[in-house]
Amino acid sequence: MAQSSVFHRDLNAELPVIVSGDGSYLIDDTGRRYLDACGGAAVSCIGHSNAKVREAIKAQVDTLAFAHTGSFTNQPAEDLAAHLVARAPKGTGAGRVMYLGSGSEAMEAVLKLARQYCIEKSEPERQHIIARKPSYHGNTLGALATGGHAGRRAPFAPLLINVNHIDAPYPYRLQQDGESETDFALRMASLLDAEITRLGAETVMAFVAEPVVGASLGTQPAPKGYWARIREICDKRGVLLIADEVMSGMGRTGTTYALEQEGIAADLTTMAKGLGAGYQPIAAVLAAQKVVDVVKAGSGKLWNGHTYMSHAIATAGALAVQQVIEEENLLANVMTRGAQLKAGLGAAFGQHPNVGDIRGRGLFWTIELVADWATKAPFDPLDGIAMKVGAAAKARGVMTYPSQGCVDGVKGDHVLLAPMYTATEAEIDLIVQTLAAAVADVLEA
Ligand code: PMP
Repeated sequence: MAQSSVFHRDLNAELPVIVSGDGSYLIDDTGRRYLDACGGAAVSCIGHSNAKVREAIKAQVDTLAFAHTGSFTNQPAEDLAAHLVARAPKGTGAGRVMYLGSGSEAMEAVLKLARQYCIEKSEPERQHIIARKPSYHGNTLGALATGGHAGRRAPFAPLLINVNHIDAPYPYRLQQDGESETDFALRMASLLDAEITRLGAETVMAFVAEPVVGASLGTQPAPKGYWARIREICDKRGVLLIADEVMSGMGRTGTTYALEQEGIAADLTTMAKGLGAGYQPIAAVLAAQKVVDVVKAGSGKLWNGHTYMSHAIATAGALAVQQVIEEENLLANVMTRGAQLKAGLGAAFGQHPNVGDIRGRGLFWTIELVADWATKAPFDPLDGIAMKVGAAAKARGVMTYPSQGCVDGVKGDHVLLAPMYTATEAEIDLIVQTLAAAVADVLEA
């Protein structure tokens, strides 16, 4: 591509033009095939160009595209909501689903719904949001303010609402020598209790967190016991628990929601990437019955709305994606291929002098690259090591999701992998081999 009129993320880059998809592969206009080991940003998950999803979308295009939610609902929107509610984590109650167009929009929507809940519950003094660092919750201003990602926030700081951040559990750098997993989990969870006390117990509206941290830190699950303790603290303090499952949800970690593996349910859950799997731009909020009850008994209305909510083609496409995941039993493959990926990364990088940490869950894994294994010293961020590894893997035909983390001054280089739930054994092997070769390309150059 020599010239472009699109306002790309990188105005100087010459990007391949992708013309089609085929299972785990993307194909450009020269016929080159890229093995998609990250689904973009953990979006595509059932393979590109799935026939059942294409058929469902085509059928919906021929029936109804759009009817405004001010006056109407539509069948695919209702069917997808029923599907999601029927599979909601235990503890959600019946619940209800609201649709949005992107993960960021879903984050804005949950913050507003949390505020509405507090007002309708006659607790208008509850207005503080507590979130974590590092974290990523999106790029619109409210979502950006909620995220604990120093680099992304910095230029827009004067425009951001006030959000309070506590440390997210990051065992590689924050677990102390000799500290057990449980002690570490409880110490990290106690940060929430302390922050609620600092802000004033009656003034806190919600705690927001990714059950498995994604873009900002690279597939970081919490230590055992953390989430159960967080749930207890939220309940005791009357604070809503918001789980941002935009990236971790819809099967990426082996269960529909990552939080299910912790045995708790959030009050509000956002989901997006694996919901439409890239076939449609769609996000959703799952509200627990406890929230629905308060709104129903209060104004009875949602104090939020967007033109394209409940879009019929988007919801029809997402429903087909969710049916493929269920009918083809893809979460079993997530577990099997996830175990293979974990073992493969361990074999390739477990003793590597520049790989400090290998972390993840399901088909959601990251390597953290460091300059010095013994001291955990990161590479100079200006060297852009992760981005170079990503570029080297791309040159070898495998797409990964590299990122420069920003952990309060400590900048770590991460390369994130999020292969398709449909990935084959051979594809997982190829992903690991190619990543190992790409790391060698960069570090042994
Ligand atoms: N939350 C999380 C956890 C995310 O990973 C992302 C996207 N990377 C978002 C929110 C924002 O989603 P979107 O880019 O669709 O606005």
